[in-house]
Amino acid sequence: MIFPRTLFKTAFTSGYRYNSTLVVAEHSGDALSKITLNAIAAANKLGSDISVLVTGSNVKKIAEETSKVNGVKKVIVADDPKLKDQLPECVADVIVAAHKQNNYGSIIAGASSFSRGIIPRVGGILDVSPISEITEIHSNDTFTRPMYAGNAMAKIKSKAPVKLITVRGAAFEAASNTGGSGAIEDAPKVEIKEHGATFVSKEIVKSDRPELTSAKIVVSGGRGFKSKENFELVYKFADALNAGVGASRAAVDAGFCPNDLQVGQTGKIVNPSLYICCGISGAIQHVAGMKDSKVIVAINTDKEAPIFQIADYGLVADIFKAIPEFIDEVKNTK
Ligand SMILES: Cc1cc2nc3c(=O)[nH]c(=O)nc-3n(C[C@H](O)[C@H](O)[C@H](O)COP(=O)(O)OP(=O)(O)OC[C@H]3O[C@@H](n4cnc5c(N)ncnc54)[C@H](O)[C@@H]3O)c2cc1C
Repeated sequence: MIFPRTLFKTAFTSGYRYNSTLVVAEHSGDALSKITLNAIAAANKLGSDISVLVTGSNVKKIAEETSKVNGVKKVIVADDPKLKDQLPECVADVIVAAHKQNNYGSIIAGASSFSRGIIPRVGGILDVSPISEITEIHSNDTFTRPMYAGNAMAKIKSKAPVKLITVRGAAFEAASNTGGSGAIEDAPKVEIKEHGATFVSKEIVKSDRPELTSAKIVVSGGRGFKSKENFELVYKFADALNAGVGASRAAVDAGFCPNDLQVGQTGKIVNPSLYICCGISGAIQHVAGMKDSKVIVAINTDKEAPIFQIADYGLVADIFKAIPEFIDEVKNTK
């Protein structure tokens, strides 16, 4: 027999839990990644009681930074030398332990290569289907996500007891990194196992230019540049505009630039105020990564190139002639 008081308590507690959300923080070791602010903004839309999980080694500074983000009620910290490199297997175990303790209604992370390794693992352990790259939240069980390289939008209702979600950064304004005063506490203790994987090394591309996914202006180059040397013109154009640099997969595959610049279905998704495509044809896989940009400009010698169908401003011209003219023009107006 259930006593009314127990019933009330259970109903109250489960209602509370249903609204509670765990956001998995992504950080560089020095700072919180912007995509985590987008994920917190999405969690705010769920109207939830938001906790953020920070994993890593010596992450006190990150935890403090996170506690100041608007809307964050609690920061749960798993600080362990074994979490230094945040291997997805280990982070997934910490998330599962936190969920077992707190029974969240949703677990959210920004859609990035960091979360792509983690959220499906958590799904496997909890036997729940993750919902990837949502762009809209209709209620706490109904979401929109793009399919077929952004050519169709699916509205999904999830019956899962815990919603495992990754959030497309470009679709949610970043939560303010001030105004919050979340309580910081330790994550539940969990033995960090190696799972047969160890971290070996990492190569980071260093650049002083604005980061591609958060830049207000992006200049992107494609196969039209024909060589790595010619691709330097893209960097010059970007520097004149204080812009981030992007590229098509054809440019990356041809070795003109590193693959972290790739924009598209298998690269990064961007939505800057201004996206300038130079020598890019506009294949659907590229367009999937930039079509939500506010203003799109295309420069291409082929007036039939598909990119002109989505460009707000198009210039049928040779990039090797047009870009230097643009750069001079920008310098003259400064
Ligand atoms: C599963 C899958 C995933 C993919 N993912 C991605 C992705 O994430 N991102 C991506 O970009 N692609 C992706 N692709 C590849 C995509 O299909 C295209 O092959 C690629 O985007 C083409 O790149 P591009 O426009 O630079 O090259 P091209 O299609 O060769 O276009 C080059 C353009 O440059 C123009 N041009 C040439 N010379 C000049 C000049 N001097 N001045 C001006 N214009 C000039 C030409 O007219 C042409 O339009 C993917 C493909 C597959 C199958």
